[in-house]
Amino acid sequence: MRKVVIVGGGIAGMTAGVLLQKAGFDTEIYEKNALPGGQCTGWKREGYFIDNCIHWLTGTRPESALHELWKEIGALGNGVEVHEKEMFFSSKLNGQTLTFWRDKERTRKEMVELSPEDEKEINKLIEYVTMSETMTVPVEKPFDAMNPIDFMKLGMSMKSMGKVMKEYGNMDINELAMRFKHPLIRRAIVDYMPSGYQAYAFLVSYGTVTGGNGDIPKGGSLAMSLRIAEKYKEYGGVLYTNASVKNILINGKKADGIMLENGEQVEADYVICACDTDYTFRKLLPDKYMPKGLKQMYADRDKYPVSSGFQIAYAVDGVFGELTGTRVFSCDEINVGNQTVKSMSVQSYDYEPDFAPVGKMILQTNFSQTEADYKYWESLYTDKASYEKRKTEIAEQAIQRVIKEYPFLEGKIHVIDVWSPMTYTRYCNSYKGAYMSFVTTKQAKSITVPGVVKGLDNVFLASQWLMGPGGLPTAAAMGKFAAWRIMKRK
Ligand SMILES: Cc1cc2nc3c(=O)[nH]c(=O)nc-3n(C[C@H](O)[C@H](O)[C@H](O)COP(=O)(O)OP(=O)(O)OC[C@H]3O[C@@H](n4cnc5c(N)ncnc54)[C@H](O)[C@@H]3O)c2cc1C
Repeated sequence: MRKVVIVGGGIAGMTAGVLLQKAGFDTEIYEKNALPGGQCTGWKREGYFIDNCIHWLTGTRPESALHELWKEIGALGNGVEVHEKEMFFSSKLNGQTLTFWRDKERTRKEMVELSPEDEKEINKLIEYVTMSETMTVPVEKPFDAMNPIDFMKLGMSMKSMGKVMKEYGNMDINELAMRFKHPLIRRAIVDYMPSGYQAYAFLVSYGTVTGGNGDIPKGGSLAMSLRIAEKYKEYGGVLYTNASVKNILINGKKADGIMLENGEQVEADYVICACDTDYTFRKLLPDKYMPKGLKQMYADRDKYPVSSGFQIAYAVDGVFGELTGTRVFSCDEINVGNQTVKSMSVQSYDYEPDFAPVGKMILQTNFSQTEADYKYWESLYTDKASYEKRKTEIAEQAIQRVIKEYPFLEGKIHVIDVWSPMTYTRYCNSYKGAYMSFVTTKQAKSITVPGVVKGLDNVFLASQWLMGPGGLPTAAAMGKFAAWRIMKRK
């Protein structure tokens, strides 16, 4: 039996593990943390559960190849309930609120009521959101292995996306916002995504929700990761946790296996690097092996930006329906990282009553952070006391602003945790604290890198970084592709 060693027990690594075990390979996953899941995780504080990933899981709608993959690896199916998102998010400005509902006709009506002079542009937006519902993440086989017929089939399945790209493919979210006259519509469009994202990303994300293809599996992120780990073990896979890998053992044009941080060596016929790709080629393998495409993207920091978040979790004494969903509002200025922000969001997890003790609820704020912000946190992190102090200061300012927006929370809300982009670097060895891959900007539309390592015949890559803008479906697809490549070699 051929042995495969997988470095990293995130969604990409575990997907590869499940599929290879199922195909009869003998696999072992080595994960540095105590729990599998990587970025797709959550943790407890003061009796509350902080869910830190799934805002929407693309592929919850049955009858797509992606949905089948989620079922195959145990993420969905087998009685796993799915919470249907009622709204994408809402934005408030000058006392007016705009909500992007799951029901897009309701959104359209609200937008037109808000701004009749934008009606034409609003109708167009909603029409193209409907077209964007056809967008899917291709999971059959790697792009470089697809033949013209495969591409034709893919194109047919996403036929309407061609029109969407033609209309919105050459603008970013700021330019999309400027197509509208109403200040709230302009603001709402740029409120949810990090600056620089292409306009079509907004349409596709909202279309995922309106198309019923971006819901949230019951139990949230960690529960989903643990289900995949369970499926992996059911097939006989061996998952080592608290097992940090130091480097890949190279012998000529092949890898012999891996060396763990504790000095232990593990032999393998194949190695899959399923962690952050920057980390892979800085620590696990010499950087001369980094695929050219990736090297270019890491080198061009303007064209291929990444983003992260500064996040706060609050415990709330009471359950308030007014807080349902994700709500963005204007607030007094607050310095977060290197930037001064004037708006913030609160997200409620009331759809999962078990995330809070009875009669209480949990809220979260996520301030988007750029690479410049990351530098700020990275330098502060060298002095842990100053780092912790700054985190606490920001959280205190943020909670005041939340109370100002929702006065009924006075005396009923307190901070239970604060984490910064550095948390992602510490926990997952993430490049500049990013938890998605490169942002798909106007200048950098297509970000795909084959998961092979030139010069090393039996080493493969599986990571969200191989296809922008990353995310869970990309991680799973890249895990599947790594498994596919190894199965082809059998
Ligand atoms: C706040 C937040 C919100 C998000 N929201 C969404 C969402 O709504 N929808 C969506 O699709 N995606 C979302 N994502 C993104 C999603 O979590 C990631 O795209 C996905 O989990 C990445 O999976 P991965 O396997 O590629 O990488 P990772 O999760 O980073 O997995 C890599 C694994 O390798 C391990 N590792 C690293 N170095 C070593 C080493 N030396 N030895 C052993 N193990 C190592 C890490 O600990 C980690 O477990 C969100 C993420 C965050 C943090």
